[in-house]
Amino acid sequence: MADRFSPDKRSEIMSRIRAKNTLPEVRVRSALHRLGFRFRLHRKDLPGKPDIVLPRWKTVIHVHGCFWHGHDCREGHIPKTNSGYWVPKLAKNRQRDVDNAEKLKTLGWRSIVIWECETVELQTLKVHLRDVMRTVQEELIDVPVLTELPVDSGAGTLCPRRTKGGGGTTCGPTPLI
Ligand SMILES: [Zn+2]
Repeated sequence: MADRFSPDKRSEIMSRIRAKNTLPEVRVRSALHRLGFRFRLHRKDLPGKPDIVLPRWKTVIHVHGCFWHGHDCREGHIPKTNSGYWVPKLAKNRQRDVDNAEKLKTLGWRSIVIWECETVELQTLKVHLRDVMRTVQEELIDVPVLTELPVDSGAGTLCPRRTKGGGGTTCGPTPLI
């Protein structure tokens, strides 16, 4: 079976995937921002220069192109043409992803992968990210009580209830434990 993309299209896909600030990445950043998260980009001091870093939650988010990182979806299929070239190349990429996640784990960082195909529908992406981050927060906070995040208003702010100190009702920074 031939590559379902034309050579021009394939080349465009590859260059896009290699670049920073890809559309899927911008979508994830936008959704995170609307959910009230603060993050940093492409921190060079962390293994693999993760796309998005949430220091407060000791979490990094990798936005992976489905083809380049071998997602098990339609976009992730390796073209039969030139498979001798693609199979080892893509396997190497996947191995690098695994290695980086391991290194990050050793340093105390949690890795989350968001696939390109999960970013197409912005509303779905937002719900997915909210759920993923809620799990992260529940694991890091003693008493995981979070304010409800209105998924459709875009104005939600994550505000974990403080369990010690302060006692105020304002949403201040929660110390990392
Ligand atoms: Zn995919």
